[in-house]
Amino acid sequence: MKIGIVSFQGSVEEHESSLKKLEKEIKRKIEVRRIKRESELSDIHGIIIPGGESTVISKFLIESGIAEKIKSLSLPIFGTCAGAIALAKRIAGESKGYENPLKLIDMKVERNAYGRQVDSFEAELRIKFFDSLFRGVFIRAPRIVEIGKGAEVLSELHGNAVMVKQKNALATVFHPELTDDVRVHKYFVEELCAE
Ligand code: GLN
Repeated sequence: MKIGIVSFQGSVEEHESSLKKLEKEIKRKIEVRRIKRESELSDIHGIIIPGGESTVISKFLIESGIAEKIKSLSLPIFGTCAGAIALAKRIAGESKGYENPLKLIDMKVERNAYGRQVDSFEAELRIKFFDSLFRGVFIRAPRIVEIGKGAEVLSELHGNAVMVKQKNALATVFHPELTDDVRVHKYFVEELCAE
């Protein structure tokens, strides 16, 4: 199994560590590839877009041609925080000149709606398919304010979705790569990525 991580900016190393931990847990080889060019996408089985600064990551995804290639290959994709923003169909109060690159999940997000960096928090989440709670780390997280028909909510917090899936695209507004718990990565790799 080969999993790519978009490696322009953001929590790249943390996702890499989660995948390496998962590899040990499931005893299955996971080759991690840092993706900087669209030509590096052709033989991978899934891709992760890390948290970071969504405007910067989105611009890079478009200019590098990576966004187009992901769509044309229908690659399984997992976006955390800024990565989730890149996956959303709609952004509340979208600023001029900003183009959302992927639009693969039918949801509307409001950037930084949980507050500033200092307002970061953790919360115990109930996630569909998981048999115990998952500790969600929220850092300047976007709030999912609308869910469209095609999207399936896998977890919510105080009435707002925080983990959403549509076909083979998965988004969390929290950061599973910042905890030791690799169940969200396991779900992505085992359920959405096929070799
Ligand atoms: N607030 C950031 C943005 O909108 C996302 C924060 C994060 O990825 N931790 O780009």
